[in-house]
Amino acid sequence: MIIPREDRLTPEQLGEVTNIVEDFGCRIQEIVGAHRNIYAILGDEGHELMFNRLIGLDYVDRVDHIESAYRLLDKDSELAQQKLVLGGTALGIDPLFIAGPCTVDPEEPNLTLETAEMVKESGAQLLRGGVWKPRTMPYSYQGDSRALEVLITARENTGLPLVVEVMDEQQLQIALDAKVDVLQIGTRNALNYSLLKAVGKLSAPTESWILLKRGRHMAEPDEFLAAAEYLAAAGNPRILLCPRGTTPKLDGYRNHPDESITQLLKEKTWAPVICDPSHSTGRASYVPAATLAAIAYGADGVCLEAHIDPRRGIGDDPKQALDQKELALTLRRAKSVWDLLR
Ligand code: PEP
Ligand code: MN
Repeated sequence: MIIPREDRLTPEQLGEVTNIVEDFGCRIQEIVGAHRNIYAILGDEGHELMFNRLIGLDYVDRVDHIESAYRLLDKDSELAQQKLVLGGTALGIDPLFIAGPCTVDPEEPNLTLETAEMVKESGAQLLRGGVWKPRTMPYSYQGDSRALEVLITARENTGLPLVVEVMDEQQLQIALDAKVDVLQIGTRNALNYSLLKAVGKLSAPTESWILLKRGRHMAEPDEFLAAAEYLAAAGNPRILLCPRGTTPKLDGYRNHPDESITQLLKEKTWAPVICDPSHSTGRASYVPAATLAAIAYGADGVCLEAHIDPRRGIGDDPKQALDQKELALTLRRAKSVWDLLR
């Protein structure tokens, strides 16, 4: 990884380092950091002669060689120096709360617009909402692009940035055109490397972040981090890691809750961890305690399903969304746990 002396390389300098690494069968990927750009060497970065030629350039501050399989996500990566701010919140300094419906009902836009107001009042800084839905059964509601219009209106009304899942490149392009603030990659696509590469690459020159859910079958934390590495290696290091439960599910739960993996992730990576107790537990009555646990485990925040009237929601909302009172209380308590631990 090449760390320049200035905040970025000029096109001429980039051309020169590219020529050097190509002599050794490698490629350069520019990574747009919050404060300066860094330049990952894709391929075997261990060539001594390549290292010597790069370090000899007067505009190169240093060339880091990180042994870890996920060299950009690793705690020792230069990216760990970034100060990350999302939705006006400095990550790690204040907790980040994302809330909103599982699925935006395009036939009932007022439900989402009212939910957005409630999310704002609860103190959450971002609004989530499903536009296109990955459903287990092909007969279930699959989503509708019109839902994005509803969310855009909700963003205009409340000022809350949006979190929207994309499942393919067509949806990705629509979401980028709409300046969706955070692109969600769901558990089912967490190992879809083509999609990960496309999302990382196409969102890199924008201001969009990526919320990467942990794959349900992704038992190994390293596999989770490797998936996130794909996003950074494709150019976008604005990544949130989202544990959301795994298989096999616990009796009575939707998944096997995995908020506790936060501690392990925090030892390995600088990337913020935003847990999703709504999907990990799958029951509204279990979500508040799991939220507090996530914060206690060291998560940077949580993503919760919430709805102005959960019974009228579609998708997961009737079983797992919090209502207005539950959301406000849960976030207030989560903030208390946050303050208590700091
Ligand atoms: C969701 O966020 O509504 C969702 C479908 O998430 P997951 O991919 O975690 O199931
Ligand atoms: Mn859901």
